[in-house]
Amino acid sequence: METSSDVSATNALLAVRNVGVRFGGIVALDGVSFDIAPGQIVGLIGPNGAGKTTLFNCISRLYEVNSGDILYCGESILKMPVHRMSGIGIGRTFQNLALFSNLSVLDNIMIGGHSTGKSDYFSNALHLPWTRREERELRARAMEMLRFMALEETALQRIGGLPFGVQKRLEIARALLGRPKLLLMDEPAGGLNHNELSLLIETIRRIRDEFGTTVLLVEHHMGLVMAVSEKVVALNFGRKLAEGAPAEIQRHPDVIEAYLGTGKK
Ligand code: ATP
Repeated sequence: METSSDVSATNALLAVRNVGVRFGGIVALDGVSFDIAPGQIVGLIGPNGAGKTTLFNCISRLYEVNSGDILYCGESILKMPVHRMSGIGIGRTFQNLALFSNLSVLDNIMIGGHSTGKSDYFSNALHLPWTRREERELRARAMEMLRFMALEETALQRIGGLPFGVQKRLEIARALLGRPKLLLMDEPAGGLNHNELSLLIETIRRIRDEFGTTVLLVEHHMGLVMAVSEKVVALNFGRKLAEGAPAEIQRHPDVIEAYLGTGKK
């Protein structure tokens, strides 16, 4: 498994090239570059305000990039119409759970799949044969993902009553429904207990090993990042501080300094 930063743009699944983002006078990202090889698990770390979520939002096209480029499978996603983004194979989980608490587990998962189906408002309303087939296929895929996350027994339960750790797993199941090539995970460990953390580490590895999905995770929980990542990219004040294998990053003086908060930029 490749862990170095020298993956060329043509081989990289995702290539972040000199990305800069400003919000008025705030420089949120300043010339950030790194590559992610297909099948790699990469951790993105940095103190609060370092620019991690901003970068995720750029890759999802929620934020405008002021300079640089982001290549996915060799193609600039910044040049794509935003509506194409849902069909290119980038899945995402959110820092704050984005679930519908009044709906069942299964419905929450299937909602994610409706946006990629071919049927429209009228064919759905008329219950035409192909919409019924699409619905059956979607339900089968949703159940497959629930089984993958060991959640099939909760399928018909309302989300509202389920423990937080279960809801976090459900969010992952939903993000996997479209079989993403690249999965962006925003603080997947947030709020989890010790046992749930071990399960999460195992799950991230299974997502890569069984589906071949490449994973980029933003995480404050260093134990998780270092256990699961093959490469870690460290940001501070919008700049890349360091990039390398977890053990290298853990002993990198600039990373240590950033986390100890000496105030030096
Ligand atoms: P955390 O770990 O606390 O989530 P982060 O590394 O994800 O932090 P970002 O949320 O990306 O950091 O923030 C980077 C900088 O950009 C911060 O100074 C933040 O205040 C600013 N920022 C982020 N989003 C916006 C926005 N929509 N409008 C204005 N400023 C923003």
